[in-house]
Amino acid sequence: MGSVYSSGRAKRDPKSDSGRKPGSKDRKKAASASNKGKKSRKESILVLCAHSDDQVFGLGGTLAKFAEEGKRIIVVIFSYGEKSHPWLKRKVTVKMRVHESHEAAKIIGIDKTIFLGIQEGRFQQEISDKNIHNRINSMIKKYRPKRIFTHAGDDPMPDHAAMNRFVLELCDEIKYDGDVYTFDVWTPLKIKERNMPKLYIDITDTFRKKIKALKAFESQWASMIALLWSVYWRAIRNGFKAHCRFAEVFQKIR
Ligand SMILES: [Zn+2]
Repeated sequence: MGSVYSSGRAKRDPKSDSGRKPGSKDRKKAASASNKGKKSRKESILVLCAHSDDQVFGLGGTLAKFAEEGKRIIVVIFSYGEKSHPWLKRKVTVKMRVHESHEAAKIIGIDKTIFLGIQEGRFQQEISDKNIHNRINSMIKKYRPKRIFTHAGDDPMPDHAAMNRFVLELCDEIKYDGDVYTFDVWTPLKIKERNMPKLYIDITDTFRKKIKALKAFESQWASMIALLWSVYWRAIRNGFKAHCRFAEVFQKIR
């Protein structure tokens, strides 16, 4: 079933396009030739994450801000996160996850969400078996992202940590010339102990969108609501450091 919902579907599904209408947008683009060049060269951001809600928890406010600034955002979700609902049939969970992610993408302004369908708990093996290396490499060539965001290397969840290793290896191998940042999902930040440069993004204006997007994950809401305090607490703590109300923090690792 994995292939049904993989990148092919994401391309055809207009919902994956943040609710934008390609037709009218295209006409607008064609109409102003001078802007066209600028628009097609607008900055791309690539997010590589393990589960369908990691991008919202980790950097939902930042992505919403980038979207408002006109940046093009592509999110690649490596798994469907089907293990969270073991009592449901895989097909049902996958559909639900894809739907919720697209709803969250609309709220945040994510242009494209691509699922790779890797099995949870088997990231390292499946990344190599399914030749994910080549797929991500061709996405980087296609979208030419200026910045890539992925999980932190010291994340205690093995799938998150495996993604960090994979992304770093790939970027080094292809000599990726943009910036690579990491984000935390649940980990209490040990950021003080890390020596890498930090990037604080003021998300005061988009924090509400982040919370709204989290609410789009209805199937996980019961477990999420208990953790919501930490989303607030971290945003406030990072905001204190960045001299604003709410902020998200990243580490620049390349
Ligand atoms: Zn995750």
